[in-house]
Amino acid sequence: MEAQLEEIQQMLEKQYQLNKDLQKQNQDLKQQLQQKEIDLKELQERLNEFDCPFQQNNNEIPEVRESRAAVMAPEPVPEELDIPDRRVHKSDSETAQIIKAIGRSDFLSRLDEEQINMMVEMMTSLNFCPGDDIITEGTEGDSLYIVAEGELRVMQAGRDLRTLTSGDVFGELAILYNCKRTASVKAVTIVKLWCIERQTYRSIMTNKSKKKREQLMSFLKTARTLKALNNVQLSKIIDCMEEVKFVNNEVIVREGTEGDSFYIILKGEVLVTKKVNGQQKVIRKMGEGEHFGELALIREILRTATCTAVGNVTCFSIDKEVFEETIPIDSLELHDEPDLIEDVEKPENVGLKTSLNLRDLIPVPYQEGRYQGDPVTLGVGGFGRVELVTTLQHRKYFAMKKVSKKHIVAKRQESHVLLEWRILQSIQSDFIVRLHAAFSDTRYIYMIMEFCSGGEIWTKLKEAGRFEENIAVFVTACVVEAYAYLHKKGILYRDLKPENLMLDFRGYVKLVDFGFAKELSRGEKTYSFCGTPEYMSPEIIQNQGHDFAADFWSLGVLVYELLVGSPPFSSSEPQKIYAKILDGVLNFPPYLGESAKSLISKLCRPRPGQRLGNTKNGIKDVRHHRWFNSINWHKLRMGQLEAPTIRLIRKGPCYINFDILPYDKSQAEEEFSGWDQVF
Ligand code: ATP
Ligand code: MG
Repeated sequence: MEAQLEEIQQMLEKQYQLNKDLQKQNQDLKQQLQQKEIDLKELQERLNEFDCPFQQNNNEIPEVRESRAAVMAPEPVPEELDIPDRRVHKSDSETAQIIKAIGRSDFLSRLDEEQINMMVEMMTSLNFCPGDDIITEGTEGDSLYIVAEGELRVMQAGRDLRTLTSGDVFGELAILYNCKRTASVKAVTIVKLWCIERQTYRSIMTNKSKKKREQLMSFLKTARTLKALNNVQLSKIIDCMEEVKFVNNEVIVREGTEGDSFYIILKGEVLVTKKVNGQQKVIRKMGEGEHFGELALIREILRTATCTAVGNVTCFSIDKEVFEETIPIDSLELHDEPDLIEDVEKPENVGLKTSLNLRDLIPVPYQEGRYQGDPVTLGVGGFGRVELVTTLQHRKYFAMKKVSKKHIVAKRQESHVLLEWRILQSIQSDFIVRLHAAFSDTRYIYMIMEFCSGGEIWTKLKEAGRFEENIAVFVTACVVEAYAYLHKKGILYRDLKPENLMLDFRGYVKLVDFGFAKELSRGEKTYSFCGTPEYMSPEIIQNQGHDFAADFWSLGVLVYELLVGSPPFSSSEPQKIYAKILDGVLNFPPYLGESAKSLISKLCRPRPGQRLGNTKNGIKDVRHHRWFNSINWHKLRMGQLEAPTIRLIRKGPCYINFDILPYDKSQAEEEFSGWDQVF
């Protein structure tokens, strides 16, 4: 017995020792893993430094977008901001240093000369002592800095990343939107920095863009040929025009040659001469605001004079071909057959609106798996969660979007939530998710929407890698119908991406998430910075004011992402995405068909006025593009087309097409300010 006991004891001791060893080994492995992760991160960073997106070879395909794209909330910036004028005088060498630094930044170097000059002018100077913190990791940033003198250290999670010295730029993303700082920056020596705040930068850019448009408008109004055009049409022309620069003595138009462009002088002087008896005779000199070549827009003509640049000249120009695409714009009104767009609510929905009640909504539980019994969560977004609910009375599923009131107030998004609700409520389209009712209590706003049981296009795209052409055509065609409906109502969508496209049970696609939508009249521009980086148009990034054309840009990006599996302008670093968008170089993989390439190129034209969908025939031109040859638009609108997307939808429990997400048991804090009274 005793011997047996001893044996057991020995065995237990052995086991104990073994366990201890294993624990130690585990610890070591864990440490090794951590070290490997750190090394990997470092290698990735080094790789990023080598990654030079502007010398891509033409066949390079953008990186796959693995994670959901981040979204910037439209910051409530007053349209006219009074910025205190804190211009600091800068010597020539200081100015040169700042300009050089800007030239080294991926994104800032894409701004135009005037914008850069404005920035230089508005930069203030700041001084720091050794040990001072300039930026703290994890905090929200609002300024961009350029090192004038001294040395600084960049650190991430307590680790040294690099040293900054004179001429380096840091924090540039904060100039566009309020993003979290990803690293800390500390002064090592005495440091002098140049600094500009986002609000200042945005007001300068916005006000300048507005002033420039007003100025161009007044210039255009003096052109006799354009007299019959109204402001909306003139504004369209401005959207199509491009800046061209000429150097001293350069001939802009030559007498006797065929004319095909119209010019407005923005800066500099132009000499007009004419051949008289074999001799060049000076007719006159033209200056800022004057224009020439307008007849070339409407007739085939030969130039009747020569115009030569005196010194450096900048003109704004439009050529005949583009002009013809833009004018007459009477036909810009969207051409939907009115009887095909339902403005009358279906009786079934009227019933739903009046009979749905918050307390009757029952959460639908998972039927199996690790969350069995927990309520089904369909999605989690930037501002809330979407849960699956039902009622005993209707025996129908609904998607319930639930957003914390406290969170909205903290992020100053009240007006956006109210707008999202107001817009969704006014919409009756089969290509847009229906809002059946909205409620609020002390903690949440609830929006009760039609349940799109087929899941997100994003999920399907990740599963497939990339879509076959007929699927991409069908998905895009549904979006075109949603756009036609929205734009006709004067609503800009601004958040197109696969994450916001849902499939219903038939495989038809619907737009969800109207958090960034905006009401806009024709000819009007809006200036907020919002959207998803990969899908933003160049005019949004440059704060030039944007309109419906921005939606067509993102349509081009969507077609690309559906066919390729990743968007055309992408990078793990946002500023590189913006730089690529401003460069506007589209790299197509070899398997893309000619018609797809043509459509994408026409939608992703840098000048908004030249984009397909935004030229004289409006969205009709998109529908008529040959990539959509297989689509019968009438049948699509009537829901009579068989959806090829049906293949993507899985059969099984109602939540089978969604990722399984854990239920969030926590409750948001209460909020009583009363902004949500309308619900
Ligand atoms: P975001 O950060 O994109 O603004 P959000 O909080 O505004 O997110 P939504 O985009 O409206 O929320 O919804 C989040 C997710 O919930 C969607 O991506 C989708 O997966 C799911 N979802 C939304 N609406 C529905 C619906 N009507 N039917 C089914 N699932 C839905
Ligand atoms: Mg969303």
